[in-house]
Amino acid sequence: MKIIAYEIYQREIKLARPFRTALRTVDTAKELVFELKTENEVGIGAAPPTEVITGDNLPGIKATLENQIWPELEGQNPANLNYLLNKISCAAVNNTSAKAAAEIALFDLAARLNQVPLWQFLGGRKRELVTDMTISVDEPVVMAEDARKAVANGFETLKLKVGVGPKLDLARVKAVREAVGQDINLRLDANQGWTANQAINTIKKLEAAELGIELVEQPVAAADFKGLKEVKENVLIPIMADESLFSLQDAVRLLEMQACDYLNIKLMKTGGISTALAIANLAENYGIECMLGSMLESRISVTAAAAVAAASANITRLDLDAPILIGDDGVEGGLAYNNNRLVLPEKSGLGIGVVNR
Ligand SMILES: [Mg+2]
Repeated sequence: MKIIAYEIYQREIKLARPFRTALRTVDTAKELVFELKTENEVGIGAAPPTEVITGDNLPGIKATLENQIWPELEGQNPANLNYLLNKISCAAVNNTSAKAAAEIALFDLAARLNQVPLWQFLGGRKRELVTDMTISVDEPVVMAEDARKAVANGFETLKLKVGVGPKLDLARVKAVREAVGQDINLRLDANQGWTANQAINTIKKLEAAELGIELVEQPVAAADFKGLKEVKENVLIPIMADESLFSLQDAVRLLEMQACDYLNIKLMKTGGISTALAIANLAENYGIECMLGSMLESRISVTAAAAVAAASANITRLDLDAPILIGDDGVEGGLAYNNNRLVLPEKSGLGIGVVNR
């Protein structure tokens, strides 16, 4: 059994509504699909370009897959999984999106060859998971209306994008809390939009207003580990690291510094499934729970992310609503959504069939 060929193609999906965070506005979801082929089987992976977070764009992801990663996989036996994962990881520094696409394709292939769903291949024990719903940053009244709709659609946890003007942020959260009532869980994501001082001031105001916020994600710049720790030590609402966490080394640093209360793991930051699981396991040893999130990704890579979440008891929160935000992503099979519930496939691997090009 050998990997004998690969295929790469780009897909674009126009969004019904732009997705807005403190870092960017996106109106078209794009991804590069990477397929690995043996004589009788295909493994599929994908990665979106998220320049403002990972630094990876489409030409860069494609070049890394073709020139750095493919030569390491060509002619190899997919059953030698750990050996090949190490090859992918060492094929280039950084370039985590390309590595994630390759790892997902390789894991899909290996699980298919074993004729089990990927979530079972990874040792997962449950098929159903619950995700939050993201509300794009906007005027308070618009966010309140979006939040009301999400709750009407069955979501119990909302993740509000903030970090664009600290004054307006407080009004945004107040408007949403008023709109959805007390029973809905609210978490915030500032996407690096505040300085440490702004974060501390804003979060203290949120606390004083008793808005019942579960956690605040990435209040300060990605590289500002000291600022992250300073915020954590000066507020009561728990703080989650997202853009500060890419590698296992980042996780070691954040955990040793006690710089945050939670970690947000994404396959496009870790370079795929193996490091995502390693971080979740490491964090468990420090008593720190993890969230599994994603970029604006289709069901190809989000099904892989959900499989990772199903496999780790220390992944206690999910932010895997991207395929819902995208709408019809032209992917047959993979995970299914039932309001806020995610159901993993029964078919082998990612359970994905035809992908529209
Ligand atoms: Mg985030």
